[in-house]
Amino acid sequence: MTDKRFIDLAVPGVQDLAPYQAGKPISELKRELGIDDIIKLASNENPLGASPKAIDVVKKHAAEIGLYPDGNGFDLKRVLADFHGIGLNRITLGSGSDHLIELIARAFLQEGRNAVISQYAFAVYAITTKATGAELRVADAFPKGHDNAYGHDLEAMLKLIDDNTRVVFLANPNNPTGTWIDGDSLKDFINRVPKDVLVVLDEAYTEYVEDPAYLDGSELVKDTENLVLLRTFSKAYGLAGVRVGYALANPTVTDLLNRVRLAFNPNLLAQAAAIAALGDTEHLKKAVQLNREGLQQMSDAYTDMGLDFIPSVANFITVDVGGDAKPVFDALLKEGVITRPLAPYGMPNHLRISIGLPEENQRLISALRRILGR
Ligand code: PMP
Repeated sequence: MTDKRFIDLAVPGVQDLAPYQAGKPISELKRELGIDDIIKLASNENPLGASPKAIDVVKKHAAEIGLYPDGNGFDLKRVLADFHGIGLNRITLGSGSDHLIELIARAFLQEGRNAVISQYAFAVYAITTKATGAELRVADAFPKGHDNAYGHDLEAMLKLIDDNTRVVFLANPNNPTGTWIDGDSLKDFINRVPKDVLVVLDEAYTEYVEDPAYLDGSELVKDTENLVLLRTFSKAYGLAGVRVGYALANPTVTDLLNRVRLAFNPNLLAQAAAIAALGDTEHLKKAVQLNREGLQQMSDAYTDMGLDFIPSVANFITVDVGGDAKPVFDALLKEGVITRPLAPYGMPNHLRISIGLPEENQRLISALRRILGR
């Protein structure tokens, strides 16, 4: 039972907020169904897990967890500075890129200001924006039937920018659609956004994208003053559990983000694991190759089943199951397969299904065939 007195006590932006619905944890399904043999294809994690080097480093640092971490994250920043060829004064560390999105909202948004996103954009942009009391402006995505259906319509987003806009959030590729923006369109968009509006380019899945027309923002950010680039170690680097991500931006924006960052994020183990993961290029290569093969395996199977799906360059595919996805989601749970229903995104017929190991993909495919009779 919610107590209205306390709802009224909350700041206006929080009063009506719907929380982020994360993928169902394996432990929860175990508790609910009493089954052990469960696979999770619901949160776009790396099916290979973390780099063995990162796991070793975490074990080594376990004895130090009585100490606070370096609040400036110097060692991790130095490694990232080398990796990107960028100054330390342009890097902000966070406990996952979620944390950085929140810092951006906190530093730049409030009532009377607005942020622009696309329909079907990653849900955390909307939650963090609304929590500040700022207005959320949502541009329609490309409609079904368009050759970039469900993708961001950049022209429509540009039209929503006004004098009160402070931030435009853009995920490339986007979650939960797997759609992406080519390099020329991205550059054109950034050039046309007013210079006093921040373009937050969220590249959580960038390591997986192999199309030559894709351009990551790591060079652009060096000479585009209003660009903020977000990266995470949660996906291809396999460190979702320790929570570590970072932002690259101009030194002043970096300074502002660090003013609202709580001093000791990311934590000690996360900082150490990220350094090791960044150094393990072999593990990353394996993850990308496995994903390439998994995307093919899954899209071939969906095509064979006659299911509509959104072509994806990330580590998941969003599939239209041809009717209400909730019963299909529930039936998959009973088979021990966790996927992600997309009703919260206004896509009630879609499931977002992460790419797993080949045998996990096959298990999902067989279960889906049984449930849908295809
Ligand atoms: N951005 C996008 C587009 C995502 O899909 C996610 C993960 N769901 C995140 C950011 C946040 O990831 P994390 O906080 O684990 O870095």
